[in-house]
Amino acid sequence: MKIVSPTKTRKTAVPSSSAPAADAGICFLVGAGPGDPGLLTLRGRECLERADVVVYDYLSNAEFLNLTPPGAELIYAGKTAGRHALKQEETNALLVKHTREGKRVVRLKGGDPFLFGRGGEEAAELAAAGLRFEIVPGVTSAIGGLAYAGIPVTHRASNAALTIFTGHEEPGKETSGIDYASIARSPGTKVMLMGVERLAAITGELATAGMEGTTPVALVRWATTGRHRTLTGTLSTIAALAEKEEFKAPAVAVFGEVVKLRETLNWFEKRPLFGRRIAVTRTRQQAGGFLAALRELGADAFELPTIRIGPPAEKTAFMEALADIRTYDWIVFTSPNGVEAFFNAFFAAHEDARDLGGARIAAIGNGTAKKVREYRYGVDLIPEEFVAESLLKAFKKLDVENLKMLLPRAAGAREMLAVELENLGAIVDDVPVYETFPETADVAGGIRRFREEGADMITFTSASTAAHFTALGLPLPEGLKTASIGPVTTEEMKKLGLPVDLEAPQHDIPGLVAAIQEFYSGR
Ligand code: SAH
Repeated sequence: MKIVSPTKTRKTAVPSSSAPAADAGICFLVGAGPGDPGLLTLRGRECLERADVVVYDYLSNAEFLNLTPPGAELIYAGKTAGRHALKQEETNALLVKHTREGKRVVRLKGGDPFLFGRGGEEAAELAAAGLRFEIVPGVTSAIGGLAYAGIPVTHRASNAALTIFTGHEEPGKETSGIDYASIARSPGTKVMLMGVERLAAITGELATAGMEGTTPVALVRWATTGRHRTLTGTLSTIAALAEKEEFKAPAVAVFGEVVKLRETLNWFEKRPLFGRRIAVTRTRQQAGGFLAALRELGADAFELPTIRIGPPAEKTAFMEALADIRTYDWIVFTSPNGVEAFFNAFFAAHEDARDLGGARIAAIGNGTAKKVREYRYGVDLIPEEFVAESLLKAFKKLDVENLKMLLPRAAGAREMLAVELENLGAIVDDVPVYETFPETADVAGGIRRFREEGADMITFTSASTAAHFTALGLPLPEGLKTASIGPVTTEEMKKLGLPVDLEAPQHDIPGLVAAIQEFYSGR
């Protein structure tokens, strides 16, 4: 049956000639939230996924740049205190220029774009230029950031109003637009953005204007990120405490009784890996799940990509194996990457899943088996331990004499498994289906961060991540702990001269996460 839509409705939907052309440029002012990547809105993500140009800030999480399509132009317009990377007029001009050229421009701003972010000014420039724009609100640090410190900005019992002000301007300055006296007098919670550097002067003004010296105050720095820290005191003590602790920008300050609720509501900072800086050296595509698991435990986990996966240089063997795929008795997968590379090529050549034939499937490790099941194939054999030796033991119990086996693996992988299977009498095709290459891009800034700030722990999930990490020649920060996913990786680490502080007893990502948690639990 064919459904024909009435042309009448279609006609009325056609834009009139005065409306902007469908392909005209547009600028999205997107709130990136306070830092936790989970706090970006779905709309914000959609905008990034289709962006031609992204103009981003110091306070917007650089990891979001990974969401942009390949080839998108990424422009840093951020400011750090006192240093302007781009002048506001230059940023405005940049947005206008690219939007006018017909591009989809995303202006990514920390927190909410319309709260002290000069988002209003940028939108006004676009409006004045007659260009299309949309606002995508975000989670502001003034509310969301404090929530991560266990501080609700309002509470029915004590704080029924909220004042948000900027401490950016010099108190006492004649031109200052900030009336500290009226802020001090207003009821309820006060939240200050910017201005931690002037905390002594600002708290002084508030006290002079009548705010009680005993008013509870909290400062939350890099809220919601891995670097999140909280400092509490009172109006009279907080400035000195902040100076002593070198508590610097970016921080949100909150004044009011609600600060006390933190004693019972502090959830974020109590998680088991809170504050541990852990570098993850998987490929950019694979890091996500591992990072998410570490972060859920509170770790300050960041991506330090060392390898990328590509098709093998030598493809003939793989092509031949695919052509003969129905003749195999077993297909033995040793890594999720191998599964993915194999099935991508298989389904590129075959439309019918049954073309795989009747081969049984073995997989080393739950992660590998899970990947196989994602393609809707069952797994007949998973060895007890997630290493090749354990698989061999299992095959020894079965009779594999004269059975044809395919091993779709990484180029340059260990030959031991193939050799040993042949010793059991199997006919083995050991076929490279993917190759690992060094990753040179540092989109999310992990390599720079590791070099400048170090880390508490670095994790290796394969021998090749360890090898390519060493090849980067980064200095190892003092006290750095290293974690290995299993014996093969450990062996490679030792060969490379890397220390090995822990090896996961269960050789997959959940196993490694559990081992890291265990490692830190007593410390
Ligand atoms: N539009 C932003 C605020 C921009 S002004 C928002 O809605 O959050 C910049 C100030 O925001 C910083 O000086 C700091 O006071 C605050 N800020 C932004 N992100 C922060 C974070 N993750 N942790 C603490 N303060 C933050």
